[in-house]
Amino acid sequence: MARLAIATHNAHKVDEIWAILAPALPGLSRDDAASARDLGAPSPVEDGTSFAENALIKARALAAATGLPAIADDSGIAVDVMGGAPGIFSALWSGRHGADRENLELLLAQMADIPDEHRAAAFVCAAVLVTPDGTEHVVVEESRGTLLREPAGVGGFGYDPIFRADGESVSNAELTPEQKNAISHRGRAFRALAPRVAEVLGA
Ligand code: IMP
Repeated sequence: MARLAIATHNAHKVDEIWAILAPALPGLSRDDAASARDLGAPSPVEDGTSFAENALIKARALAAATGLPAIADDSGIAVDVMGGAPGIFSALWSGRHGADRENLELLLAQMADIPDEHRAAAFVCAAVLVTPDGTEHVVVEESRGTLLREPAGVGGFGYDPIFRADGESVSNAELTPEQKNAISHRGRAFRALAPRVAEVLGA
């Protein structure tokens, strides 16, 4: 029987989040965490106006549906010169939800005339924990870097091939999953949330 619900329908994301949280939860095994899909919980409409609001919408719905403590995240890329866009619209920037290649190509085209010194951007992640009794913890973290001019690498997903994190010499898509988790917005956010998860689960 699961003790922690993770608000995603994407199995890859459950594994990624679990890999980040596991070191802080030595009393728990992978089987203690179940995704919204495993639990048969519906996905709510994400109509919030920030990463944190959208993550809270997902976690509140899942905690209510399952009676379990629920964690959720919401993330995206925010380009400085575009005033923080694509932001919460990252997944559907080109008009079709989850069309990673089209999203990335549209962003590159929009940024084509912007010189290297003005291509600063950040991946942002809100990670939240909501318990069935209504206690809520919210963490927002970012990974700053630069938007590249063309895709490089085949790892990761989304905008990874066109983002190079500060301090790195290659794109996010050229890092191993462990290297990416160590510096990523999602890695930072869930590591910061992990002690609260451990407290709530007594793990
Ligand atoms: P979500 O939080 O899973 O809904 O992600 C929103 C969108 O932001 C994704 O579809 C990607 O386009 C983008 N995104 C979020 N995190 C990452 C990342 O780690 N690498 C690349 N793209 C990301």
